[in-house]
Amino acid sequence: MTARVLVVDDLPANVKLLEARLSAEYFDVTTTMSGAEALAICARGECDIVLLDVIMPDMDGFEVCRKLKGDQLTHHIPVVMVTALDHVSDRVRGLEAGADDFLTKPVSEIALIARVRSLARLKMMTDELRMRAVTSKEIGIQLTGTEAIADAGRQGRILVVDDRPASYDRITGMLASEHTIEVETNPNRALLRCSDANYDLLIVSLAIENFDALRLCSQVRSLDRTRNVPVLAITDSKDNARMARGLEIGINDYLMRPIDKNELLARVRTQIRKKRYAERLRENVQQSIEMAITDGLTGLFNRYYMESHLTALVEQAAGRGKSLTLLMLDIDYFKAINDNFGHDAGDDVLRQLASRIRKSIRGIDLACRYGGEEFVIVMPETDMAVATIVAERLRRRIAAEPFTIQQGTRPIETTISIGIATLDTAGDNVAKLIKRADQALYRAKRDGRNRVVADAA
Ligand code: GH3
Ligand code: MG
Ligand code: MG
Repeated sequence: MTARVLVVDDLPANVKLLEARLSAEYFDVTTTMSGAEALAICARGECDIVLLDVIMPDMDGFEVCRKLKGDQLTHHIPVVMVTALDHVSDRVRGLEAGADDFLTKPVSEIALIARVRSLARLKMMTDELRMRAVTSKEIGIQLTGTEAIADAGRQGRILVVDDRPASYDRITGMLASEHTIEVETNPNRALLRCSDANYDLLIVSLAIENFDALRLCSQVRSLDRTRNVPVLAITDSKDNARMARGLEIGINDYLMRPIDKNELLARVRTQIRKKRYAERLRENVQQSIEMAITDGLTGLFNRYYMESHLTALVEQAAGRGKSLTLLMLDIDYFKAINDNFGHDAGDDVLRQLASRIRKSIRGIDLACRYGGEEFVIVMPETDMAVATIVAERLRRRIAAEPFTIQQGTRPIETTISIGIATLDTAGDNVAKLIKRADQALYRAKRDGRNRVVADAA
């Protein structure tokens, strides 16, 4: 993951140090010593994360942060305030200014990398959601979930895994105003609860007695039902090796005791936002796949999907020496329905025809809306003789039972014509197959409509 990190600090020595450490981890680093220039870099979209010093001469870090968070162009860029250890109140001011996280000077290497990585992932997901919101707007659809960009990471459901009452009471007290907190003192039960309920975050104390809490973290990561739940570890010691191990296992972030309330609040929000983004992205992918391959009016597959899938089906049938037959079907005198009763009536007929087609085919058949009032049904492992029987039955049923328009109040007699073509063994392909079915359909129309014509080839 190569995130672009902007380091803002008025002291060259600080800039150099952070730059060296981040570059060693392959982050792309830009630096500046002025708040105003930082704002300009962010507005140009040239960075993914900002590390912001608090005390700077012209414009201090709080103000830079407030400006970034107040601007539509830049408010989604994560900001880490770099504060001095003895200025605890800076963190409150940082949170108020909209900071996403904190680092304390002197900045520890492991904290720096953990923070930047965690926020880089958050930024990647925000970017993806923003991009999809734009794309879907451009192509005229409204994907749900893109509003998650504005999610502030509050009202989360959190499980705290800790066996010391003084400790979990303290954590609960700090978070209770923003989230719903549950406590579990037994790590084994914690895993069960976690797989049963959809928690937004797991906070695990690494100091649990008689149990290696990192084991729980790794189990949470490996189970299907829990792998997407973020884990925030609470550690007592400066045991860097163990923390590094934890981050390797897949802990998302950590906090060192004594816990600073504002740091805890900020980190919890970041993890919850990230989890929610990821959830929305997954739903979003599912939804756009469905939208891309189905026809909005009838719910059948669209032409694009049918043609690409048919290529695979034809290859498979040819490779295994199996038959495959295609029906091309068109409503007779459909234009007259639109002309006499309006476009809505035409749409009703199209929907009802689609639903009857769906009921009359097998699960492995593929029905699609090919064009305006033209439909294609692909029938794998079906020869011309069987397909002709299916087509004839469908034609008869459509002619026998009228569709209804005007909210079901008015019956309307409709017929269809069908052309059939079957896959030829030698040198056949999708385009030729569709063309033969189309020619057969043309003959059905020419010969008087309401009939099935099989391609002679
Ligand atoms: P034929 O028997 O030769 O097939 O005649 P037809 O009137 O059915 O065929 P034609 O191709 O002349 O007209 C098809 C009409 O279908 C024209 C077009 O406006 C209409 N149409 C295409 N898509 C839709 C749609 O989504 N909804 C509605 N209501 N009408 C549509
Ligand atoms: Mg027609
Ligand atoms: Mg037509």
